[in-house]
Amino acid sequence: MATLKGIPVSAGISIGRAFFLNRSGAGPLPRQTLPEALVGPELARLDRAFEQFGLEIEQARERIPAELREHALILDSHMMILKDPKLSGVAKRYVQSLGINAEWALDKAVADLEKAFEALDDPYFRDRIQDVRTVAGRVQARLAGQTAETRAIESRVVLMAHDVSPADTASLQTDKIMALVTVQGGKTSHTGILARTLGIPAVVGVTQLEREVRDGDLVVVDGLRGVVVLSPSEDELARLSDLKYQFEAYQAGIMRGCHLPGETIDGYRLKVKANIEMLDEVPTVVTNGGEGIGLYRTEYSYMNRAKLPTEDELYQEYLDLATIMSPRRVTLRTLDAGADKFVSTLGALDERNPALGLRAIRLCMHHPDIFKTQLRAILRASVAGNISVMFPMISGLREIRQAKAMLAEARAELRQEGQRFDTELPVGIMMELPSAVMIAEVLAREVDFFSIGTNDLIQYSLGIDRTNRYVSHMYQPLHPAVVRSIKHVVDAAHQAGIEVSLCGEMASDPFCVPILMGMQIDCISLTPQAIPGIKRIIRQATMDDCKILLKLVLESPSVTRTNALVQETIFRQFPDELMFYSSLLDREETPTH
Ligand code: PEP
Ligand code: MG
Repeated sequence: MATLKGIPVSAGISIGRAFFLNRSGAGPLPRQTLPEALVGPELARLDRAFEQFGLEIEQARERIPAELREHALILDSHMMILKDPKLSGVAKRYVQSLGINAEWALDKAVADLEKAFEALDDPYFRDRIQDVRTVAGRVQARLAGQTAETRAIESRVVLMAHDVSPADTASLQTDKIMALVTVQGGKTSHTGILARTLGIPAVVGVTQLEREVRDGDLVVVDGLRGVVVLSPSEDELARLSDLKYQFEAYQAGIMRGCHLPGETIDGYRLKVKANIEMLDEVPTVVTNGGEGIGLYRTEYSYMNRAKLPTEDELYQEYLDLATIMSPRRVTLRTLDAGADKFVSTLGALDERNPALGLRAIRLCMHHPDIFKTQLRAILRASVAGNISVMFPMISGLREIRQAKAMLAEARAELRQEGQRFDTELPVGIMMELPSAVMIAEVLAREVDFFSIGTNDLIQYSLGIDRTNRYVSHMYQPLHPAVVRSIKHVVDAAHQAGIEVSLCGEMASDPFCVPILMGMQIDCISLTPQAIPGIKRIIRQATMDDCKILLKLVLESPSVTRTNALVQETIFRQFPDELMFYSSLLDREETPTH
């Protein structure tokens, strides 16, 4: 028995036979220097390989099954990489200037890009080097004369691969795959998205995979801990089968109850909505029991494209979203671009501290035309009757008034043009800056609702860049300053008679939710996949217990003590619920605040 370690990207356990979709290639890449006369033909060979892979991506895009539509977007980004001169142009330049073969030149171009990606702070964007490697690898395979043909799978298997590219997804027999394991890939890799869409376990970044595993080997994929067990002993097999059974029973149980309301045993009702970024996620929201969209991150429709979206495009997108979700409510957050959410059409700014720079509402005020276009689209879509709008990163009164003035201008224009919109459109703000928290009573008088963005509130309150791994252990949702800030905002909202929601990652953490409930928050909004588990926690809790826990947490002077207290209490209350969870409170190191 041996155990290979990797990164867990989709939960669950599968036991089955290994089947390799592809391996890293027959051997080392050919490295040759070329006589001058062969440089021209080599460039043409490289061009042909790029073209061939481009054609395959286009064909794959057309054949992609409906449930994997999300992957069409990744195919688009592969197409962009394929067309980007930073890869093909640099590779060609290496062929020309060094007189080396195309495979080698591509390797050098990828190495250059690796250096550039390593310098990026945001782990998501840093991880995108995986896509560059995948594209380059596929072009190299075409240079070696391989095609995209995949072997037919006879029975259900654990699919293993050097990598699974989105172009592969079109030809995958998804009903025959019980788990995915790859050599390549990081936390945010496409394999994880694919596995989660298919609801199967996945482990990526298993570097020893190709050396240790053969087709037909019996393996256990543990997508909870991120390991692959080879030739398990009888005892280990029995233990893992048992864990698999428990996990599946747990999942089936939470799914059965996910359409019930988020209501405690003693009748306190908490709305549970979803955070999404794309229209394609709506079916997941509905099947997981989401009671609305509490946060639609509109910036994603501005990313990865050559031109800004038009008013009509945005209008159609928002109207579709509202119509599909109707009568459930949909909260559209206006463009929160800048900092780690890079929108190339807005150009890169030379900022030393982008998180403290021209981001979100500030960026929109800097580009009033872009902001106005979005507001007009939102207003036009609001005829659906279930849309709310909210502004991100509000720091004070002036910004709300400016944003509302812009909204009023958009309304006036539409009225003049004879266009219809919801005259009662609820307007809210994200509470994610300490300055806004301090004056929550003042701001509450200006808007219809608050939504607390703890991802940023923690970043800005504790002075910790949320994308910086060196300080990630200090990113503490239950720091006394954060808990008190949230409580202050909830109380201010209730005193003013407006609704308050929370849409940061804290809302999907079972260790944090009972504390938020103790504050009597009205709504939480979280990633759709986490809704069933969180609803079950809510339905097994009592408001009395939540209030007692909140009181203890508010009295605690340090995050270390709070975390210990919360872990102990919540484990005692929900022992069966938590064995499959990892919490925001699980940090490698305990800071000493
Ligand atoms: C937040 O800041 O908590 C939030 C929900 O918004 P985002 O993560 O998109 O900044
Ligand atoms: Mg935010």
